[in-house]
Amino acid sequence: MIKSFPVSDRLHLIDRGNQANVTIDGIPVWKNSRQQFRPILIGINEFPRFPSIPVAIFVDESKPANVECFLRDFIEELKEISVNGISINGRAMEVKVRCIICDSSARVFIKCVMNHSSKHGCLKCEVVGKYSSRTRTIYFQANNNDALRTDELFRGNAYEMHQKNSTPLAEIPDLNLIQDILVAETGCT
Ligand SMILES: [Zn+2]
Repeated sequence: MIKSFPVSDRLHLIDRGNQANVTIDGIPVWKNSRQQFRPILIGINEFPRFPSIPVAIFVDESKPANVECFLRDFIEELKEISVNGISINGRAMEVKVRCIICDSSARVFIKCVMNHSSKHGCLKCEVVGKYSSRTRTIYFQANNNDALRTDELFRGNAYEMHQKNSTPLAEIPDLNLIQDILVAETGCT
């Protein structure tokens, strides 16, 4: 189930030149409940003390089954705003997404890529993980020869071993699909 709020009705605090940080998070609704509450929030980078603005909320007993269903309304609203701007006091304000912040499982989901612990799972470079029979995990050896992934090749679906499908995030204007989807954990950044 998706509840969307019109972005243009909610972003009254945006001024020219400000940028939006998008946060996607998963929160259990009740303790011991399978229901998950997955808000998409926007915070204004230049006004960190302003409360984040919910633009969409997904509630279900499991993770969203498909990324199209999860992101579509949000992306359509962003596209509309990028063309028409938001009218505030008669002035058209542009909105640009600065970055998307989420945990590793959400990143894999919204980017439609291989799991971060799989051989081709690095979001930032083309390192290929090796399997350790001792720990039964994939491990990565950083190597300066591993090319950094680029927005251009990602958009062209050139990373066949890394990308499972096209992501609707590619439709967000001016978003760099490698650099603007933040990776906060250790490893390639
Ligand atoms: Zn890497």
